[in-house]
Amino acid sequence: MVASGVKSVSFYVNGEWTKPAGRATLPVHNPATGEVLAEVPLATAADVDHAVETAHAGYLKWRDVPVVDRVQVLYRYKTLLEAHQMDLAAMLTAENGKTLDDAKAEVRRGIQMVEVACGMPSLMMGDSLNDVAAGIDCKTIRQPLGVSVGVTPFNFPAMVPMWMYPFAIACGNAFILKPSERVPLTPSFAVDLLHEAGLPAGVMTLLHGDKMAVDTMLHHPLVRAVSFVGSTPVAKYIYASAATEGKRVQALGGAKNHLVVMPDADVAKTVEAIIGSAFGAAGERCLAGSVMVLVQGAEPVLDALLERVRGMAVGDGSKAGTEMGPLITTEHAGRVAGHIQRGISEGAVPLTDGRGLRNSLGGHFVGPTILDHAHAGMSIACDEIFGPVLTVLRVATLEDAIQTVNTSRFGNASSIFTGSGGAAREYTSRVEAGMVGVNIGVAAPMAFFPFAGWKQSFFGDLHAHGKDAVAFYTEQKVIMSRWF
Ligand code: NAD
Repeated sequence: MVASGVKSVSFYVNGEWTKPAGRATLPVHNPATGEVLAEVPLATAADVDHAVETAHAGYLKWRDVPVVDRVQVLYRYKTLLEAHQMDLAAMLTAENGKTLDDAKAEVRRGIQMVEVACGMPSLMMGDSLNDVAAGIDCKTIRQPLGVSVGVTPFNFPAMVPMWMYPFAIACGNAFILKPSERVPLTPSFAVDLLHEAGLPAGVMTLLHGDKMAVDTMLHHPLVRAVSFVGSTPVAKYIYASAATEGKRVQALGGAKNHLVVMPDADVAKTVEAIIGSAFGAAGERCLAGSVMVLVQGAEPVLDALLERVRGMAVGDGSKAGTEMGPLITTEHAGRVAGHIQRGISEGAVPLTDGRGLRNSLGGHFVGPTILDHAHAGMSIACDEIFGPVLTVLRVATLEDAIQTVNTSRFGNASSIFTGSGGAAREYTSRVEAGMVGVNIGVAAPMAFFPFAGWKQSFFGDLHAHGKDAVAFYTEQKVIMSRWF
C-alpha cells in the first residue's frame, strides 16, 4: 500500500516497514514554515548489522534472477514513480524547501535513472573473442558485487539515491540506502513504490541514521561497495575509510562552480541561465554556479542580472509564483549569512544583500545575494557556501578567466557564456572541471552520461550513473575456454 511507510518514518528491512522503538530521534522540519513533519529514528549498530545480513541473504537469491526479469521490477517502478510524481514532488518541497517546479524536475531526473537502468541487459554485456590462441576462446562477464550501500545528502532526496539503487539493483546487487536524516520522507516514499513494484525482500533496504550508522556500514565485512554524495570533508573521510577496508568506493563531494561570461554573450539568455544556476534551489546544489567570472566588456550582463535579481519572488516553495525557497535549516541560513558578512569584511561590494530576509520571513531564508569586486583569494571566492550567494570576479581576458577558474580546489562544474565557438572550444578543453557547459547554467549530465566531478569534488575512479555505474556495481570476470 503506497504511503503506508511514510506517514511516520520507519526502516525498510527484509521487505517490511518496521517502526523501531527506543531509538534516538531527530525532528524533520518544513524549512519554509518551521513545522515539524516527522521524527526520524537513528539506527543503532545492531540495526545496521541486522540490515546488512538480511541484505546479503536477499542478494544471494537476487543475483540468480535473470537480468531480463530483474529489470521488469524497474519497468513497473518507473510507471509507479510517474503515477506518483506530483505527490513525491510535494513531499520533497515540504521537507527540503525547493520550489515545486524544481522538485518536479528532480523527480523527473530520478525517473530517467530508472529508465537507463532498465537497459541493463545490454549495459551489462561483456566482450568475447574466439581463438585468442589455437582452440581457445575468451570472454568477459560482469557479475554483481553483493551488498552495496549509499549515503546521500539533503539537497536531492529523490534523485541522488536514484543515481545509485536502480543501477545497483539491476546489476544484481542488494542495496542499503542511508539518506540524509534531514529529508527522510521522500526516499521513504520512493522505496515504498519499489516495494509495490514487487522487488523481492532483502534486495532494497532503507535505514535512517547518522555518522554511527554510516561508520558501521563502512566497516561491515559483507558490504562490498560504498556510494557517497555529500560535503567534501565527509566524502574524503568515507573514501579513505572504505578504501582502507578494501571496499569499492565512489565519493562525490562539494563544489565551487564558475560561470565565465564573455563580452559577446547573449545578455537575456545568459541572465536567465545564471539566475537558475546561482539561485535555483536557493543555491543548495552541487552544480550551482557560485562565482561569476566577468570578462571585461561583459558588464551589461551583470547590470541586467542585478535588475532581475531585485525582482525575484522568494518564499514558500509550495506556493505558485515562488522562484526561490528557504535554506534547509536556520543554522545553515546563519552560516550563509556569516559567509556574506565575511566577504563584505574582506572588501567585496554587496550589490544585493539577502540577509534582510532572515528577519522578515523567519530564520530559514536568505535572499539572493551578489557580492561584486571580490578577489580570487577571498573565502567567498574559494569556499563552498551552499546558499544563494553569487561572488563576482572581474578579469580582463579569457586567459585570465581560465587561470582563475583553474586555481579552485574544486572541479565539479563550470560554464562559459559566449557567442564565439573559438572561445567555447578553448574553455572546454582547458578548464579543470568535470562537467562543462557552453551557454548552459547547470551542466547536469543526463542519466546515460557520468556525473563526472574532478579534484576535491570527487574521490574515486568510477563516477555516478551512466556506464560508470555499471562498472562500479559489477565485478569483471575473464573466462578462457578450451574444449577437447
Ligand atoms: P553532508 O556531508 O553533511 O551529509 C551527507 C550524508 O553523509 C548524510 O547522509 C549524512 O547523514 C552523512 N554524514 C554526515 N556527516 C558524516 C560523518 N562525519 N560520517 C559519516 N557520515 C556522515 O552533506 P549535506 O549537507 O547533506 O549535503 C550538502 C553537500 O553535498 C554539499 O557540500 C554539496 O555540494 C554536496 N553534494 C554534492 C553532490 C555531487 O554530486 N558532488 C551532489 C549533491 C550534494
